[in-house]
Amino acid sequence: MLELTPNTLAERSALRINPCKTCQPVGALYAALGVHRCLPHSHGSQGCVSYHRTFLTRHFKEPAIASTSSFTEGACVFGGGSNLRTAVKNIFDVYQPDIIAVHTTCLSETIGDDLNAYIMELTIPDDKYVVHTNTPSYVGSHVNGFGNMMAGFIRYLADARAAKNNRVAIFPGFVNPGDIREIKRLAGLMSLDCIMFPDQSDVMDRPMTGDYEMFPPGGTTIAEIQMLGGVLQTLALGEFACAEPALVLKSKCQVESDLMPLPMGIAATDRLLMAMSALSGQAVPRELEDERGRLLDLMLDANPYYHDRKTAIYGDPDTVIGLTALALELGLRPRYIVTGTPGELFTTRVKTLLATYGREDCRVKAGADLFELHQWIKNEPVDLLIGTSYGKQIAKAEDIPLVRAGFPILDRYGHSYNPLVGYQGGLRLAEMIASALMDHYDRTCADEDFDVVM
Ligand code: SF4
Repeated sequence: MLELTPNTLAERSALRINPCKTCQPVGALYAALGVHRCLPHSHGSQGCVSYHRTFLTRHFKEPAIASTSSFTEGACVFGGGSNLRTAVKNIFDVYQPDIIAVHTTCLSETIGDDLNAYIMELTIPDDKYVVHTNTPSYVGSHVNGFGNMMAGFIRYLADARAAKNNRVAIFPGFVNPGDIREIKRLAGLMSLDCIMFPDQSDVMDRPMTGDYEMFPPGGTTIAEIQMLGGVLQTLALGEFACAEPALVLKSKCQVESDLMPLPMGIAATDRLLMAMSALSGQAVPRELEDERGRLLDLMLDANPYYHDRKTAIYGDPDTVIGLTALALELGLRPRYIVTGTPGELFTTRVKTLLATYGREDCRVKAGADLFELHQWIKNEPVDLLIGTSYGKQIAKAEDIPLVRAGFPILDRYGHSYNPLVGYQGGLRLAEMIASALMDHYDRTCADEDFDVVM
């Protein structure tokens, strides 16, 4: 498996192999699924949306619904305006969503379709909405598409004249429904009345009832997105997914935001809870202090197994930064940190984090791919991989334990239900990491070192 990956590195700028990201519309589609009774709509050819839906379905093990403008040769030459008009009419007639969220694709971007103009000319039924965002896939990644779609909803719907309310907007970032549930639980324990936007819980993790509901009960409502204009503040979790929508909300409705990393690990979770405490005026309850204490206890108990183990972390930028923070707290030694999403801000943030722990001896790269990561590992191996399913070939080829975390995980089940964020998420990750390292030790140690008690 992958024996042919060469040790010798070659300078590459125009080619990505196993790229560690996917295209913008995937993120836009996922963001739109977090809005109640919303049908995401892909303005392009059918092949694109088939791929985007399949990709999300394979990660969440849930149907990811979306419609398409079904471009053929005619739309490519004359523009997709008439396709969009027909699609919107059919969608409202047949599927009856409350809102359609349109995102572009490479094709509609390349021919220069003007979605603003098309949407202004549409006949939209009363109390229904059509919003859009631009998601050219030759720029950025699914993380940018996610933020762009959020910004699109805010541009169309957030009401600058909304009555001031005591609610707080939480932008959870590109995370699983299990993470969103955990952030909502933390907000509840901190007595914070929040608007979670977007909210894919009860949409992409809905219980099995035997009945199919095209529009499940979850998702941020249109009224809540309109109310974002009057909230106290935004807690934007994950700079790469949430900076843009937070900025748009600020410039449209003058809502200030506190932009912070995903609450992964102790320090980042502390930071979120302190921000929540400042907003609600309530001290952190004993229940959360105890959770924090239990995570610390596990970290100390298993420290001999974490200590100084060389680690490679890869995936989406916000998730990788969160995982790196936790890895440093555990005592692991990050050696390679990469994301496929381009942007030098990532390297700056990660290097700052590494410097805090005196761990500058680490290669950090944005816009990277897993082929290059594999080459680095062939030249200097690591003890542990943390990242998405796409690292499993490296794990197998080099016999390195792999802890699956992030997006996508295509070859396991249950990950989307359970959090990586908060102290509970830290506890889960710390256990997964210790177990992976110990399983590997059991599998590879000499007979005389093999023991039941560790
Ligand atoms: S053509 Fe563009 S939008 Fe469509 S699947 Fe490929 S990268 Fe994504």
